[in-house]
Amino acid sequence: MKGKRLLLTLLTTTLLLAACGRPAAPPSDEGKLRVVATTTIVGDVVRQIGGEAIALTVLLPPGADPHAFEATPQDMARVAEAQLLFANGAGLEAFLDPLLENAGGQAELVDLSQNVPLRAFREKLAEGTPEAEAPPDPHVWTDPNNVLLWTETIEAALTEADPAHADLYHQNAEHYREALRTLDAWIREEVAQVPPERRKLVTDHLFLGYFADRYGFEQIGAIIPGYTTVSSPSAQELAALEEAIRRYGVPAVFVGTTVNPALAEQVARDTGVKLVPIYTGSLTGPDGDAPTYLDYMHYDVRAIVEALR
Ligand SMILES: [Zn+2]
Repeated sequence: MKGKRLLLTLLTTTLLLAACGRPAAPPSDEGKLRVVATTTIVGDVVRQIGGEAIALTVLLPPGADPHAFEATPQDMARVAEAQLLFANGAGLEAFLDPLLENAGGQAELVDLSQNVPLRAFREKLAEGTPEAEAPPDPHVWTDPNNVLLWTETIEAALTEADPAHADLYHQNAEHYREALRTLDAWIREEVAQVPPERRKLVTDHLFLGYFADRYGFEQIGAIIPGYTTVSSPSAQELAALEEAIRRYGVPAVFVGTTVNPALAEQVARDTGVKLVPIYTGSLTGPDGDAPTYLDYMHYDVRAIVEALR
């Protein structure tokens, strides 16, 4: 009996010692909720709400194209250690399924598009395709009202995983929702400078659908006529685009950093439109023009209004 108790004491002591001897996480992240976000835009919005209470890793580096990204073994290790994984969803992150399959771990996937009303890609449909089969347009963030819906999903997920910081998450989310409403009002004021007949958007790929729907623009074409950058136009598609640019008298094509510049330059040469740089699927680093989502929207809206008014 005595021997057994001693053994138990020894065991307990050993376990305690083992726990103390574990390699410690970086002191600043100790005990924090471990969170991974896919894109820089998702990461920024999660950071606005999680603040100092979470240890956040963003998978995509600034400037990376979310359509073409491939996860590295380090990314898998980060996901394996995470408690929450925030994703844009709606088919943006093609790398997500293989990543989750290979990473293992317990991370709960939080799909930020789950309560966003998705628009279908009618533009890309072959004739006769039923609307239900259209893939969703994944670029939901180009309407700040959708990001407002994200904040509710993020707040709920963080609060459930880490109820001790519920008040902080709620305050941060309320504060950020106010900033998003201000952004929406500012965009309405800005785009009012563009006459309705000039609200025609041509971009590198069709990424401004939600923006166009919300603020009264029309996407009349794109250099890559689809919702992803991972394809290229046929000669006929390029000719049709140039025809549309001429027909509508479009003065500018908005191009991100991820498109093949040779194609954009060809369209500019053929039609005389101006190429206007814009941010598409990624924020910049801290020293760039668009280190946060709010900066990104300000930059793009200014570029659009300046070119079309
Ligand atoms: Zn895109």
